[in-house]
Amino acid sequence: MSYPYIEIINIHKSYGSFEALKGVSLEIERGSLVTLLGPSGCEKSTLLRCLAGLETVTEGQIVLDAQDVTGFSPRERNIGMVFQQYSLFPTMTVEKNVAFGLEVAHVPKKRIREQVAEMLEIVGLGDFARRYPAQLSGGQQQRAALARALVTNPKVLLLDEPLSAIDAQLRKSLQSEIRRIQKERGITTIFVTHDQEEAMVMSDRIYLFNVGRIEQFGTPVEMYTHPTTKFAASFIGSYNILDASFFSDRIAVPSGCTSVAIRPEAVHISSVPFDHTQGGVYLEGVIRDSIPHGDVVRYSIDVGGTELKGEILFDNQALLENGQAVNLSISARDILPLH
Ligand code: ADP
Ligand code: MG
Repeated sequence: MSYPYIEIINIHKSYGSFEALKGVSLEIERGSLVTLLGPSGCEKSTLLRCLAGLETVTEGQIVLDAQDVTGFSPRERNIGMVFQQYSLFPTMTVEKNVAFGLEVAHVPKKRIREQVAEMLEIVGLGDFARRYPAQLSGGQQQRAALARALVTNPKVLLLDEPLSAIDAQLRKSLQSEIRRIQKERGITTIFVTHDQEEAMVMSDRIYLFNVGRIEQFGTPVEMYTHPTTKFAASFIGSYNILDASFFSDRIAVPSGCTSVAIRPEAVHISSVPFDHTQGGVYLEGVIRDSIPHGDVVRYSIDVGGTELKGEILFDNQALLENGQAVNLSISARDILPLH
């Protein structure tokens, strides 16, 4: 019978009278990478610490590989963890840091040497074994921390914002490296980040957190294309969020939905009128501003006092000018109702 590798069932965590986690449930498939995404302070780290056994839960159950580990010590859970702050032992070399967990487990010396060397190769630190943490860059320190967490072959790897102190360029390459190692070795991983782009590129599934609760979950594509709440639409992508009444009766919105979301690339902009045969919504507006965003230009458009963001590919086409009147077309299927 197939069952989720990790089951988190209705976890509550209180600090005194303050309820931090308010009933969190999630399931994680073996070998997958799941991201906990959310703004700072929404209790992502609290949940990870509960999973690692560094905090006790107030209520709920944690099941790992069909075994209830809720009352287990961190050691008994066999979970590897990498934190945002570099947490290497400063007085030990990289090699010694990585060997630490194996030495504690009394693995024979020869095997320790082999496994440490193999793991350092995997994370690209083969030539840095004898260095001390202070002699490494931030990115290298995090690779060493990753090697140290992986070498003991944990059942689960928890990564708490491991890349957030690393600059943008290196961060991208470490994202794909972590993902590659995770996939190759089939390590069930929970990755925490506040960065939606990072969550998009790394995850099999994203759980979006909002103050101690899960707001929405799905694959990156589902989360990007179908946010279901105002919070999700404002956190993921660069959605236009409009009052449903903006379209008056031109689109049908399910009852209970007071807002709608529209991706900027779904707002089609033209200096000449569209022929109204597509069955969408047609609007007129005035360009207020334009900002290049990678390979698109994002326009801010005033539509009768409401600001809409629209995007056009940055190709040879002449830029639209501020003050220019434009025509807009939005397909009905690109107008997403929000709860
Ligand atoms: P995130 O990782 O999403 O930024 P955290 O899990 O660190 O968020 O949660 C931060 C919240 O948890 C804060 O509101 C903080 O006050 C509370 N918190 C964390 N640890 C404790 C503690 N030991 N005692 C009281 N409150 C705590
Ligand atoms: Mg945190």
